[in-house]
Amino acid sequence: MFDSVRIRLTLWYACVLALSLMVFAFLLYKATSAVFYERQDESLRSTVKTVVSAYQEEFEEQQSAQKAGQVVLTELTFPDRYVLLVDNDGHSMASSKNASGIAVNIPSSILKEAHDRSFKVATIGDLRLAVVPLSPDGQIGFAAVAEHVSVIDDGLRQLRRDFFAGVLVVLLLASFGGFFLARKSLGPVAVMNRQTQRISVENLSSRLDITNPRDELGSLATTINELLDRLEHSFKEQQRFIADASHELRTPLAVLRGESEVALDKPRTIREYEQSLILVREEAERLSRIVEDLFVLARQPVEGSPALLKQPLSLNDVISDCARAAQVLANQKGVQLTTQTVPDAVVLNGDEDLLKRMVLNLLDNAVKFTPSGGEVSVTLSRQNGHARITVADTGVGIPKVAQPYVFDRFYRVDKARSRELGGAGLGLSIVSWIAAVHEGKVTVSSEPDQGSTFIVELPANG
Ligand code: ADP
Repeated sequence: MFDSVRIRLTLWYACVLALSLMVFAFLLYKATSAVFYERQDESLRSTVKTVVSAYQEEFEEQQSAQKAGQVVLTELTFPDRYVLLVDNDGHSMASSKNASGIAVNIPSSILKEAHDRSFKVATIGDLRLAVVPLSPDGQIGFAAVAEHVSVIDDGLRQLRRDFFAGVLVVLLLASFGGFFLARKSLGPVAVMNRQTQRISVENLSSRLDITNPRDELGSLATTINELLDRLEHSFKEQQRFIADASHELRTPLAVLRGESEVALDKPRTIREYEQSLILVREEAERLSRIVEDLFVLARQPVEGSPALLKQPLSLNDVISDCARAAQVLANQKGVQLTTQTVPDAVVLNGDEDLLKRMVLNLLDNAVKFTPSGGEVSVTLSRQNGHARITVADTGVGIPKVAQPYVFDRFYRVDKARSRELGGAGLGLSIVSWIAAVHEGKVTVSSEPDQGSTFIVELPANG
């Protein structure tokens, strides 16, 4: 039950409300009871003053304290209130009829205070009483009017009961209200939940409805939709990658199968078998290269993970190692390769294998797409804290329209020609990825028939 946000919200709400209501009721009760007691004292005081002035009038007429007392007590009767007349020592001189059954001994301390201040209220036993001197000089005695404390206490008890019932009723009503409000405000979450559950690989392009993009739930739905955008994009990317990869693998496999079927079709000469095997070896080599490239690209998602062995290394060494390897290719092709590096070491944190692969891919392309007699150069320089590797050639160049796509996977400007040269269109996408995982970037500028220049910029340590 407590797993429901709606119930938890309602319970929290009810607890906070109950606490506030209780504090409110308590304070109101305290204030009300103080007023009740004050009113009782006030009322007793006015009653006792009426008694005293009536007494004084009678005393002036009768000139006898006893007679005046009797007249006053018979004339003035108050239901539920007892009138007492006492002498200066507190002995009863007379009392109203209804007070016959009760014996009140007013302590002399109270009489003294009543005398001194000409008025005193006090509680004696279960009676509240107001005492006033019968004459201003305090010679005759005192008049006292008393009332049971329970008169007020009963009222307060009733008030407590009403408060208790009121708090309960309000709490119950408010909790129901809170429960329905919580249900109403959480309604869109349930809708989002249902909509999200319906989204699967088959309908990855569906999105959640957004009623108000500015409120919290709208912003949550927007975030989920953005997540779905990214998921859909990467899922499509994966699908495209798999489709492209299988397509690339299909051609050499078809050649392998076709060639071996033809060779096995009928008995052939040694020379023919040899030629078939050479073709098979070439295609197998192409396959290995593609598979190797695919392996490198498959590492992409683990960017930043231990698979990337970053350590301080000298880019000068990387360049000269790669130039040495490319020199073999350049010699075979009759292309002149020149290397230029800065005298002091350019150090950066990187994965040596990946960086070598990056430079080799660029050099390999440069030699591949440069006709015999052309020139290829690789230069390492330093530019405002960045290491810059430039691989330039005087080869066939890349048409302007194709330049934005050369870093895409499986993209080749001239498919047939590039395949002949052994490429599957993965080399530059690997270069671009390696530059990116080293927080760098690669750019190209090229003129058809004049040559291409690839520039890799990497943040260097020093
Ligand atoms: P590939 O394996 O086919 O060389 P890349 O990703 O390395 O694939 O290159 C993609 C395409 O970019 C190549 O097919 C080629 O058309 C073009 N390209 C790359 N480097 C050069 C270059 N130095 N000169 C001319 N064209 C190039």
